[in-house]
Formats: sequence, structure tokens, C-alpha cells
Amino acid sequence: MVEAGENQNQSHSHCQKQILKSISLKRILILVLSLCLSTMSISQTNVIAHRGAWKNKSLPENSIASLKHAIELGCYGSEFDVHLSADSIPFVLHDHSIQGIHIEKASSKELAKIKLSNGESLPTLEAYLNAGKNQTKTRLVLEIKSSSVSKARSLNLARACVLLVEKTGVASITEYIAFDFDVCLKVKELNPKASVSYLNGDKTPAELEVAGLNGFDYHYSILKKNEDWLTEAQKRNLTTNAWTVNDGETMRWMIDRKIDYITTNEPEKLLELLK
Ligand code: MG
Repeated sequence: MVEAGENQNQSHSHCQKQILKSISLKRILILVLSLCLSTMSISQTNVIAHRGAWKNKSLPENSIASLKHAIELGCYGSEFDVHLSADSIPFVLHDHSIQGIHIEKASSKELAKIKLSNGESLPTLEAYLNAGKNQTKTRLVLEIKSSSVSKARSLNLARACVLLVEKTGVASITEYIAFDFDVCLKVKELNPKASVSYLNGDKTPAELEVAGLNGFDYHYSILKKNEDWLTEAQKRNLTTNAWTVNDGETMRWMIDRKIDYITTNEPEKLLELLK
């Protein structure tokens, strides 16, 4: 009888130990999960390579090689600039002219002959989008440049870009940015599902929301002056992005305020900072 009672006590305390063990396991799991979640919310900022990842490898800005390098680095996005040739073919270049040739006044035939410093041809938008295709990690951040000729040409470029993005099958990985507010609205009109952010820094988050845009991509100095725009945009579910942030101190300032994206000429440095 005594032996049976002892056995019962032993199995009872064994049971208690098992319960305690499972409770502490649960606690550990909850602790690990909440740590993971807090880490995720700390490092929510994503890296966008400005004109591709060109600087560290001395590649030409906006070249297909710089886009490929941004993809290799695993950047969230790779930004590039687009203009329209005289015969309405979109080309990828930042400035209005290259090697003395004004891009909007030259034919696509003439522009196709231009070589970048790495030997690659001046890329057409079509070639650029095809080079960024067949991957989903790096988003193609397409800046529609304002025409130096007319508003109508800026809007024509917006149309040409939306058509080409659809034709090449990269709509799901493409985001649009523009300084011209009307161009932003035009892209939204042509493809309401497209992600469109405004660059010029003169609209409040409330104005962007009313216009139906997805967010802002403002110069960092604008955000330093209007710090509340970051929290206001977050409340309104607008995306937040700052250009062009190259120094560690400003990168940290933006990361601490949980900005969604930082556009930088130093993607390697920012990726390291976010580790
Ligand atoms: Mg740009």
C-alpha cells in the first residue's frame, strides 16, 4: 500500500515537472517570437540603389551592368531614369543629354549608337526592363523624367513607360516615381494598380492620399524639416522614401524613424548598416 502511494506521488510530481517544462518551453517560444518581431520592426527599412549599384564597381550610372549589380547585392529596388527620344522611344539616362546629344531631340537610331564607358550601348527602356526581368527580389524603380520640351511630352513618356512595362511583363515588380505631379496622376489613371510615388517634396501626406498616390520619395532635407510627415504618411498607409542618402548619420536618422526605403549611391554601406 505504502509502495503504491509512493508510486502515485512520484508519477504526480513527474506530471507536474512535465507541465512546468512545457510552460517554460512556451515562455521561451513567446520570448523568441517577440524578439524576432521586434528585430523585424527595427530593420524594416529597405535599400534602393540610386541609378543602379554603380559606385563601388565604377560602372556607369543607369547602365544595365549597374542594374544587374543591384540585383546581385539583393537590393529591394534599383532606380533608373527615363527620357523619350524624338521618335518616342524611351531611353534610360539621367541627364537631358549625353556626349553632346540632346536625348529628346535625337532619333532612336542615333541614340542606339551611343556607348557608355563600360562599352554597353545606351540602354532603351525595353532592354533595361528585360535585363531586370526573371527575378522578383529587386524592384524596378522607374523615374519618368520631366520633358525639357513640353508637358505633353512628359505625359507621352508616362504612357510609353506604362505600355512597355506591361509589354515586357514586369508590372508586378515595377514602381514609378516622378517630379511632375501630373505625370504621377497619369500613371495612376493608366494603371490604377501601379505603385506611384511623388518626388518633388511640396505635397503633404494628406494631399498625396487624396490624389490616390502610394507615397512620397522626397529629398532627405525635406523630411528633416518635416519630420512629422513620416509618421503622418505611416498613419495614412503611404510609403516613405528618401533620396539620395549617402552618409551613415542620415541613414541612421531615417532608419530610426522607420522609413520604408532609402535611395542611395552607397547600397553596400546601407545593407551593412541594416544587418
Ligand atoms: Mg532618378
